[in-house]
Amino acid sequence: MRLRFAPSPTGTLHVGGARTAVFNWLLARKHGGTFVLRIEDTDRERSTDESRDAILNSLTWLGLDWDEGPYFQSQRVDRHKDAARELHAGGHAYACFCTADELAAERSEAQAQKRNYVYSGRCRRLSRDESRGRQEAGEPHTIRFAVPPGRTEWDDLVHARTGFDNEGIGDFIVLRSDGGPIYNLAATIDDLDMRITHVVRGDDHISNTPRQILIYRALGAEPPRFGHVPLLFGSDRQKLSKRHGAQSVEEFRALGYLPQALVNFLALLGWSPGDDREVLGLPELIAAFGLERITGKSAIFETGKLEWLNGQHLARLTAEELARAVTPWLLAAGIATEEYLREHREWYWNLLEVLRPRARLLSDFVTLGRPYFPARISYQPEAVSKFWPDPSEAGRLLRELHVTLASMADFEKIATEARLRAMAEERGIAFSDVVHPLRVALTGMRVSPGIFEVLQLMGRELVLQRIEDAIWHLEGGSLSAVS
Ligand code: GLU
Repeated sequence: MRLRFAPSPTGTLHVGGARTAVFNWLLARKHGGTFVLRIEDTDRERSTDESRDAILNSLTWLGLDWDEGPYFQSQRVDRHKDAARELHAGGHAYACFCTADELAAERSEAQAQKRNYVYSGRCRRLSRDESRGRQEAGEPHTIRFAVPPGRTEWDDLVHARTGFDNEGIGDFIVLRSDGGPIYNLAATIDDLDMRITHVVRGDDHISNTPRQILIYRALGAEPPRFGHVPLLFGSDRQKLSKRHGAQSVEEFRALGYLPQALVNFLALLGWSPGDDREVLGLPELIAAFGLERITGKSAIFETGKLEWLNGQHLARLTAEELARAVTPWLLAAGIATEEYLREHREWYWNLLEVLRPRARLLSDFVTLGRPYFPARISYQPEAVSKFWPDPSEAGRLLRELHVTLASMADFEKIATEARLRAMAEERGIAFSDVVHPLRVALTGMRVSPGIFEVLQLMGRELVLQRIEDAIWHLEGGSLSAVS
């Protein structure tokens, strides 16, 4: 099997394109086939080097490695032109001299008659001599494919038997008047030369497929198998668009998703393993993947599901893999230096284990982890209003907590809990009324891991510092009475 992914470098890698890449890559890996990467950059105006690099980077980040390429379609234009000449010589294509105005007139006539527009075929009826004469005289012309009568059908790998009446296709352009090849010609010749055996792509290409099959046949070649996967829709069943939030692989990466979670999620958009498994790593996906269970039903892109999957994949990482994934985030947020993390490795890995069940995205480790590092924290307004409703009361409690905790050498759980419970009892308040205000002082947040875990992870020095900072904050800037 030889499969390909053929993106046009006119933007970043969109999740729809990434899903196509995932399907082709999985099929190639499953069947020991070859995955070819081809950049379809014949549209010189819209193609950019930045888009090309962004696409290659996204594929690499996802772990979708290619066996051949990247090939660049723009470097193969001479070959495309030769193929057009071959079609022409074989009577499968002809020169069309119709001007833009003439074509526009044909089109509006069809519109007025509420007909589907296809080219009238006027230039197909020119005599050979006339056509040659006008070409030799330098009259501007395109090259059109001469669609034969009949019907073009194929056994679609997803939709089963699919077909179009050729009459409704109409003679289509393969070379523009400037000699540049049109997508359907370029893609077909490239697929042919690259010996592609299976073309798997989005439903939006279904109407191109009969044209491409016709070109293959005209050249006396056997077309590959074609499979069209349903397009992606948002949870509101509308076609996926900017409105639905993040759209490109790069955006998901920046939000803190793991590549294996995104690949898992994309694989499930239109395919299922046939059992109740949903969390699959690359090797499991490769083992389970196959064309049989690709469905023709539209696929709904649910970000909530992606987030859940990411949490599942986070849970599967080894401690070392987790640290490797999270560290760049902490460094980028300026929370810690590489050196600090290296020096406190045991503590750091411990922290990650405590935070892991609470995190869904890598970015969550920044938010959740910030309080455990020395830099000052801020207090969430909702935490303050809920647990420090009366600032002077909260300040008094924290002063007492400072004295109690300062008198302890470490925060061993049983001893610490006994001290805090005794304190609550003496004050005649609930234990939770001690814990919650303390949590806000230590983390700035309404929720956190268990308070004893927090105390231990933070350590005596930082805990006392945090309480002092909180008192300062509550009392409008005085630390004088803290001892
Ligand atoms: N360059 C085309 C696209 O980005 C690829 C079409 C195909 O897979 O044949 O949509």
